[in-house]
Amino acid sequence: MNRRSTSAIAPRYIVRMDRREFTKLSALALAWRCLPAYAQTAGAAQKPVGYAAIGLGTISDIFMRACAQSQTAKVTALVTGHPDTKGVKYSAMYGVPKSSIYTYETFDRILDNKDVDAIYVGLPNSMHCEYTVRAAQAGKHVLCEKPMAISSAECRKMIDACRQAKVKLMIGYRVHYDPTWKQAFQMVKSGEMGQLQSFQGGFYGQMRNTWRLSKKLGGGGALMDLGIYPLNTIRHITGEEPTDFTAIISTREQSGRFSEVEQSMEWTMKFPSGIIASCGCSYGQSGPCFLSINGEKGYLVMESAFYYEGEHLRGEVGDQPIDQLATGRLPFQFVLEAEHFADCIRNNKQPESPGEEGLKDMLAIEAIYKAAGAPIA
Ligand code: NAD
Repeated sequence: MNRRSTSAIAPRYIVRMDRREFTKLSALALAWRCLPAYAQTAGAAQKPVGYAAIGLGTISDIFMRACAQSQTAKVTALVTGHPDTKGVKYSAMYGVPKSSIYTYETFDRILDNKDVDAIYVGLPNSMHCEYTVRAAQAGKHVLCEKPMAISSAECRKMIDACRQAKVKLMIGYRVHYDPTWKQAFQMVKSGEMGQLQSFQGGFYGQMRNTWRLSKKLGGGGALMDLGIYPLNTIRHITGEEPTDFTAIISTREQSGRFSEVEQSMEWTMKFPSGIIASCGCSYGQSGPCFLSINGEKGYLVMESAFYYEGEHLRGEVGDQPIDQLATGRLPFQFVLEAEHFADCIRNNKQPESPGEEGLKDMLAIEAIYKAAGAPIA
């Protein structure tokens, strides 16, 4: 979801931090300004990792734009139900040979395409499992969009298929790769906020006329699509798995838009250490997109927390005020994500957001739906 247009965000970078730590951390943001960052490393000399994009919708369009800005990731094939229109359009845009345009029916022939190292799965949620398994069987690594699938059983199937085929599996949690978010993670990790106590988070918006409103294709509603962002980010920061849940679903609108999936969900979760989190999400209301991280001696608030750009990090850590606006512009998070997975493939590293991360989120999502009295599994 992209709330603001790029031009609406003034390019500024406000920092009121006086600490050595910050100097180190801001190197990350500066590295972004000098993109392609990864290309400056030894990897630049290698042939770019070839991605086949499957499902040429909104997110694949952004991903392909990101690859075009990278020297280590390249789109080398396309998989689409519309080879003569979308296929031809994107092959011309990104220099993909016509022979490397596949349909869902001919997808498995990608096995023979040596220019394809990995598949980027940008399909509706209920199709992630099938195409990840098929990609693994074709010997290709998989970068799959969030949510990983629509049940924990499917997530396990995907992990097993990739393990058996000895290919890597990464979930597209772009927040993990974002420099401003990395600074926030590092501030928490430094211990200067003291013991973590609680989180509040939310992602609210309007969703209309899309497969996301179909239970069969989306697997669920706002929680599956939007609530997963605060959920995953909180799990990532705490390094713990939530154990206790309360949740309430509400669908006020009776137009029929939400006949299959929930309009709004509010939930709480508690972690083994005692950290508590209170979160919400909606497909049918306006509201903030934020995460508040509260420690004993400081707090951080990220607002526009989960959009594609324009995050504002503010708060107080120790006695230092923090006020900083991200400088990266769409599709920068996707460049970093694509390059991270390329690095993992080239150098046999474990992705920072592997399939197991997607499974853990799905287990929490199932627990939240169950707590709300609307189990999905
Ligand atoms: P989209 O509707 O824009 O694109 C979906 C694509 O799948 C289209 O090309 C469509 O033709 C194809 N498709 C194939 N079979 C289909 C079917 N039966 N019904 C509908 N479409 C079908 O969706 P999107 O916004 O690109 O989302 C795709 C995936 O990416 C979802 O899993 C979503 O959660 C994820 N996503 C991730 C982010 C992120 O920031 N990481 C943002 C948006 C979407």
